[in-house]
Amino acid sequence: MTLILDGRKLRDEGVKRLKEVIAKSAKTPVLAILQVGALAESGAYISQKKKFAEQIGAKVLHQTFSETVDDAELVGNIANLNDDDGVDGIIVQLPLPPRLDKQKVIDAIAPVKDVDGLTSANKKIFEAGDRRAVVPATAKGVLSLLRGYGLSVAGQRVTVIGRSDLVGGPIATLMKREGAQVAVCHRGTSDIAGKSRTADILIVAAGRPKLVTRDFVSPGEVVVDVGINSLSTGRPAAKLEEEIPTRRLVGDVDFEDVAPIVSAISPVPGGVGPMTVLSLFENLCDAAEVSF
Ligand code: NAD
Repeated sequence: MTLILDGRKLRDEGVKRLKEVIAKSAKTPVLAILQVGALAESGAYISQKKKFAEQIGAKVLHQTFSETVDDAELVGNIANLNDDDGVDGIIVQLPLPPRLDKQKVIDAIAPVKDVDGLTSANKKIFEAGDRRAVVPATAKGVLSLLRGYGLSVAGQRVTVIGRSDLVGGPIATLMKREGAQVAVCHRGTSDIAGKSRTADILIVAAGRPKLVTRDFVSPGEVVVDVGINSLSTGRPAAKLEEEIPTRRLVGDVDFEDVAPIVSAISPVPGGVGPMTVLSLFENLCDAAEVSF
């Protein structure tokens, strides 16, 4: 029987745990989220974070800026939030419009409030293996998902497909820090299927639906699918009163093809996604010094 790595179940346990510690603490953790423009996906991710905050008893301070805002205004705003004792964590909802200097804006966040772990200062200490570094939420979510099912990464051969600054890169760094033997694959890598098949744990973060098929895995392997891709169902647009979904979310792994072969696999939706939100709020509680 293939084990399904159920992120929603672990997330729900995490919600309970965080709710209890926040209720016992004298402090309500506050997360500031800066949003530029009105991208639908960003709106959906922010709503998810607000809902999560409400469930655990934390607060979100949602600041919105028009498409035309410049780096200086965002940086100035972040400086005010850095000085505000009522704010524990600050994140910039990505993506930003390409004309803005993303790293410059993120680097304006004070290290103690960098709960996404994306400032250059944090990246540097994270990559150096410093355990005081904030672990970026998706990477932390992947590790917690594995640990939640008793799967250790130490000494394991881990292949990561994808090496972006936000997702694949931090996942590989974290796996190395935890003692795994890590191989990283990207668009230019040869024989990705072979490098995937010989791993004990395969982590896929490429953003390519059905990239990973049965040729990429071997019996006993553990597969973690980080990809989130939105596909049309081919159905006509929903009428308001009907709510027929016209898009569905799929990962990078062809689940039906791969699941019967491997020993464990995370689904999309319901795998890494819920763990990523949980991890962000764990980082916020750390920053607010609400311990759990
Ligand atoms: P990105 O486009 O910045 O990076 C993709 C990486 O995958 C690159 O390193 C690229 O070289 C590699 N890649 C692309 N196609 C490939 C192929 N055919 N073979 C091998 N390597 C290939 O994307 P990203 O921001 O890193 O996001 C990756 C995926 O993770 C997306 O689907 C995104 O939606 C998802 N994501 C999920 C979560 C979550 O919580 N589950 C969080 C963030 C991002």
